Amino acid sequence: MNVTIVGGGIIGASTAYFLSAENVNVKVLERDPTYTEASFGRSCGGLRHQFLQEENILLGMYGSEFVRQFSKSVQFTANGYLMLFNEEQKAEQTQAVITQGRCNAGSNTIDASLIQDVFPWINPEGLAMATYTDTGIEGWIDPYSLHTEFKKKAIAQGAKFIKQDVKSLDDVEDDIIVVAAGCWTGELLPDIPIKPQKHTVFNIKCPVHMPDMPLTADFTTGIYWRPEGHGYIVGSPNGRFDQEDLEPDWNDFDEDVWIPMAMRAPMFEQLKMENAWAGYYDTNVLDNNAVVGKHPKMDNVYLASGFTGRGLMEAPGIGRGLMELITSGEYQSIDLSCFDPARVLNKEKRLEPYVI
Ligand SMILES: Cc1cc2nc3c(=O)[nH]c(=O)nc-3n(C[C@H](O)[C@H](O)[C@H](O)COP(=O)(O)OP(=O)(O)OC[C@H]3O[C@@H](n4cnc5c(N)ncnc54)[C@H](O)[C@@H]3O)c2cc1C
Repeated sequence: MNVTIVGGGIIGASTAYFLSAENVNVKVLERDPTYTEASFGRSCGGLRHQFLQEENILLGMYGSEFVRQFSKSVQFTANGYLMLFNEEQKAEQTQAVITQGRCNAGSNTIDASLIQDVFPWINPEGLAMATYTDTGIEGWIDPYSLHTEFKKKAIAQGAKFIKQDVKSLDDVEDDIIVVAAGCWTGELLPDIPIKPQKHTVFNIKCPVHMPDMPLTADFTTGIYWRPEGHGYIVGSPNGRFDQEDLEPDWNDFDEDVWIPMAMRAPMFEQLKMENAWAGYYDTNVLDNNAVVGKHPKMDNVYLASGFTGRGLMEAPGIGRGLMELITSGEYQSIDLSCFDPARVLNKEKRLEPYVI
């Protein structure tokens, strides 16, 4: 069996790894082997289990389990995630925690009145509940290290990575094509509603250094932050479409980031913003959820994108799932059929809330 993967980012490299492990002949066509604008290299490296939908929970769990065993070169910082919710979000999040419990995702729930017993640096004003993990199962990695290992191992198993800018799928000659072109998927498959959405992340320094802090996501404002080296990184809550370059949105910092962040964690009242970068989310504008599987209108074309802020952590499970689908005709480990491209063509929403 011959498979050509268009796009050699984290999804393409993972898929190449899993397919080549099954002796499939794999070619990966990548237009920029330096990956300058690829989303994986501009991500925050986070791996979490805490989602609403079972498939995203299971993909998150597989991703963090996988990276902890895959290679010593992929260092996992196991600080966990802390997620904060208001009264309006409580019912939905309570449902999410029930599904997480059914999946053994390891998350805990606390009422807002008790948050400071566990996280004394959080101001609970406006919060109703928090969920978190504290057993080393969620955290973050250096995204490049995972990509390098996938690529290196795929090449050792026979996969070929070739520099090529694919202008049209008609130019690709192979039994099977996998489109793993990230936020640029719509350029090759215009009927798939995935668009680049620019997100900015700031590097800050703060006199209070808390290296064990979890990745903290305040869903009342959409801001998230985590320790990085001797400082922290913090993500702007704003995502913007139709942005031609990746210049960070510097103006977000003062009003949309610093003020709400210092309100939630007063230790950040004193800080210095030192730098910033931006990257594109591969956003599925229909419902923020992945689009994975065989294109219903094309015989030999599969795709995987639309991860909307989750593509790094889901890459191991997606690569394995695509390998199962392509080599055996069905999913064997995690059933990913809910992400089938027919869903988006039929405009059937399956919303995953709380995107960060
Ligand atoms: C600021 C930011 C923070 C994030 N934080 C996280 C996080 O904490 N955790 C998480 O799981 N995810 C996170 N993400 C999301 C994650 O980075 C993406 O979902 C993931 O990288 C998608 O992987 P991909 O391989 O589909 O796309 P990419 O990594 O973008 O790779 C796609 C590749 O396809 C190539 N390509 C495109 N079109 C063509 C073509 N026509 N011909 C040849 N090659 C082509 C591109 O050059 C690129 O290298 C974040 C993203 C951003 C921007």
